[in-house]
Amino acid sequence: MSNQTVGEFFTVRCGPCGGSGKIKANKKCMACRGEGAIVLRGSIENYRDCPGCAASGYKGFNVQLVCTLCDGVGALRLT
Ligand SMILES: [Zn+2]
Ligand SMILES: [Zn+2]
Repeated sequence: MSNQTVGEFFTVRCGPCGGSGKIKANKKCMACRGEGAIVLRGSIENYRDCPGCAASGYKGFNVQLVCTLCDGVGALRLT
């Protein structure tokens, strides 16, 4: 494995739970693990909107169906 520069991190508000950390009153959000925000490596320019969920982080109208393409992030990292 080659060396990787550890850049800065930034956080985005979690789409599936809207930043609350919970899907329902007593159900933790799977996408952010209850944090309400998702930490991503790099900067926002390194990402593009996820085409699988239109950057919402979940599929359709069911917020329990987290987008498998981006794991609820709503964005995909550019390679
Ligand atoms: Zn969440
Ligand atoms: Zn997605």
